[in-house]
Amino acid sequence: MTSIPFNNSYAALPDVFYTKQSPAPSPDPTHIMVNDDLAAELGIDAAFLHSDTGLAMLAGNAMPKGADPLAMVYAGHQFGGWSPQLGDGRALLLGEVSGYDIQLKGSGRTPYSRGGDGKAAVGPVIREYIVSEAMHALGVPTTRALAAVTTGADVIRETRLPGAIITRVAKSHIRVGTFQYFYANNDKTALQTLADYVIDRHYPEARKAENPIQAFYAGVIARQAKLIALWMKFGFIHGVMNTDNCQVAGETIDYGPCAFMDAFDPMKVFSSIDGQGRYAWGRQPQMAHWNLTRLGEALSPIWGSDEDTTVEGIETSLENFGVAFTAHFQNEFALKLGLNAPNAQFQEITFQTMTAHAVDFTLFFSHLRRLNTDDHRTRFTDLFNDKSAADTWLAQWHEAKKESGIAPDDSQALMDAANPIYIPRNHRVEAAIQAGTTGDYAPMRRLNRILQNPYEQQKDADKYEEVPKPEEVVQQTFCGT
Ligand code: AMP
Ligand code: MG
Repeated sequence: MTSIPFNNSYAALPDVFYTKQSPAPSPDPTHIMVNDDLAAELGIDAAFLHSDTGLAMLAGNAMPKGADPLAMVYAGHQFGGWSPQLGDGRALLLGEVSGYDIQLKGSGRTPYSRGGDGKAAVGPVIREYIVSEAMHALGVPTTRALAAVTTGADVIRETRLPGAIITRVAKSHIRVGTFQYFYANNDKTALQTLADYVIDRHYPEARKAENPIQAFYAGVIARQAKLIALWMKFGFIHGVMNTDNCQVAGETIDYGPCAFMDAFDPMKVFSSIDGQGRYAWGRQPQMAHWNLTRLGEALSPIWGSDEDTTVEGIETSLENFGVAFTAHFQNEFALKLGLNAPNAQFQEITFQTMTAHAVDFTLFFSHLRRLNTDDHRTRFTDLFNDKSAADTWLAQWHEAKKESGIAPDDSQALMDAANPIYIPRNHRVEAAIQAGTTGDYAPMRRLNRILQNPYEQQKDADKYEEVPKPEEVVQQTFCGT
């Protein structure tokens, strides 16, 4: 019955890496959304996903031939505290297609569920679908959403909510926490096996290096540095940058209490469980560095040299994170400002101005790129507390552009490609979730469609640019798990 050509390389690893597990059946599943474009990219027949047999797979009711469902084991530091055993508590890896993991999330209990029910409510499924696909369209490496379905059974959270399952696609689901699990168990053999697997699958160039482990580590660091800079470019706040949510292939993973900053504030936090601001917008680079330090520790037993050399190798590699992150971050903000080279001083002035006026992050840059059309000049100025502050900043901006020597058309092209008009604004995501919870998926589908082309002005979509009305402002986000 299958039209999915599964490969099962992870299932071929030794038993200590996972537990084989079947999904829990869904009593009365229905489709919420199917991602036809992604299916095509993966070489999966979208018609199959839309069919009843496809639905049975997406809902965990029937495993197609070739699928070998399993729950992966991992550990992790959550908000800095060590959890020796986490693992897929509500997710199952079905297998790989075209090199990508296909995973059901919300498909029932596993040996790693601890106290959880293994299920997902429709709200978090909608959030992950919308935001992960939006991130992809923005140009941020991310896991993807292949489909979302309802299960026909309610889950109990603070209230009764419809249950749902998202089919997640990822380069792989191996996390820093996967390495930590074997490190903490002193299982050097498994660590080596895992590293070899990850190198072959995600960092094949590291194989040729003198020290493949060090080269692999450097590769993870390089990808994280770029990833975090891209998050910040769009005002994205992940919310739970625990080591178990830090994927070694370099994709954004786990869209829990994530949110997009509206009023600019570098210490902005949305997550209800992040009281200390550990994962604030501006702290994300430090937190990624912290996670990467944990990965270095976990790799130390297989680094392949004496202790001093190992420690030195890890530290040298880590130093690169700050250098690479800063370079990416400054480059990305130069693009957003239409400059052909970073200008650290002007960037700082810009951040200070945005903070002082609590300017909406996305509108600041999206009006800036449209300054010469319609009423965007006025709308840009209106973002500030007073017109003179806007004029002062604009004068400094013109000066910075002049200094950089960039031609106006080139500057325009940089801004057009770097400044989205549409992002998944928190209140729009919330509205899509609210509607979805009552079985109305139209707002989700419309939002998803608009976010496929975030850089292009679209007809009848003005309200998707706008900041929330006071009563629509999302103050806090929740994991909802
Ligand atoms: P997360 O915060 O989503 O990264 O999840 C952290 C850990 O909690 C992972 O091991 C998850 O599998 C597990 N978990 C989250 N929600 C549930 C649930 N509803 N049932 C079982 N395990 C869960
Ligand atoms: Mg997680």
